[in-house]
Amino acid sequence: MSAIGFGTWKLPANEASQVIQEAVSEGFTHIDTAAAYANESAVGEGIRSSGVHRRDIFVSGKLWVSRRTYDGAISACKKTIRNLQLDYLDQYLIHWPATAALHEDWPAVNAETWRALEALQKEGLVRRIGVCNFKKHHLAALLPEASVPPMVNQIEFHPGFMQEETITYCKANGMDIEAWSPLGNGKLLDNPVLQAIAVSHDHCSAAQVCLRWCLAHEAFPITKTVSQKRMRENLESVKLELAPEEIARIDKLAPLSFSGLDPDEITNYRL
Ligand code: NDP
Repeated sequence: MSAIGFGTWKLPANEASQVIQEAVSEGFTHIDTAAAYANESAVGEGIRSSGVHRRDIFVSGKLWVSRRTYDGAISACKKTIRNLQLDYLDQYLIHWPATAALHEDWPAVNAETWRALEALQKEGLVRRIGVCNFKKHHLAALLPEASVPPMVNQIEFHPGFMQEETITYCKANGMDIEAWSPLGNGKLLDNPVLQAIAVSHDHCSAAQVCLRWCLAHEAFPITKTVSQKRMRENLESVKLELAPEEIARIDKLAPLSFSGLDPDEITNYRL
């Protein structure tokens, strides 16, 4: 899969098919979807119309918070596969952890949902299983209950928001990290430090600096754009070489562009 994934949050259903076809034609082979984005059918149509063979595209889906029971998770995943009109998903993730703010016995809720993902994997409907937005304590409660440990944790990660404790724990337990909102949802792009670094590299943008910085931290960015020019720009960031001093300078940025979505604080999910 491409080191940089293509996100589909806020991609309107009536545009998604065309945008996905453009993203695939530019070279994105990892498409990040979610039931909650309400555009799965159009995303699936874009994937099928892209002309690229199914096995050459990595499609990742997410289970929404309203489907945490074993049976609910199994049927939600099957619905996602039907919506996308695929035979299997390359990856399936729990979108948000059950937490103490909403569930008295949140570890048991996460363990039940996880058992469903393990069963889906066993049945061959999903190849890799993982989580999103799990912090260290959510993972530490889940791991002893899991027959198959999560292979990936997709978390908010960008300059000014590094989640060191979670990252360290995931790496120590063999989980890949995917970075959502690697550009701080676009809000980071006028940051003077990122811009100064971009200017010092020929033909480079602050967006490319953010994406290359994620990769330097072994976090695979998932970025979204409706512009074909920006798709190309984002993919080309892999060619950028950031010096260790530049990476260290970005690491030291004060807290910046946090979405405000702390999984332990959310009591009302809004998209
Ligand atoms: P980004 O940080 O990539 O921000 C996207 C915004 O940046 C868009 O407004 C886009 O505008 C703009 N943009 C993208 N590339 C460029 C560029 N090169 N130059 C200038 N502007 C640019 O990520 P998102 O916040 O969209 O998150 C990425 C994906 O992560 C989502 O689409 C979703 O798939 C996933 N996600 C997962 C979450 C989870 O809970 N697991 C939560 C949030 C996101 P335009 O389209 O106009 O170019």
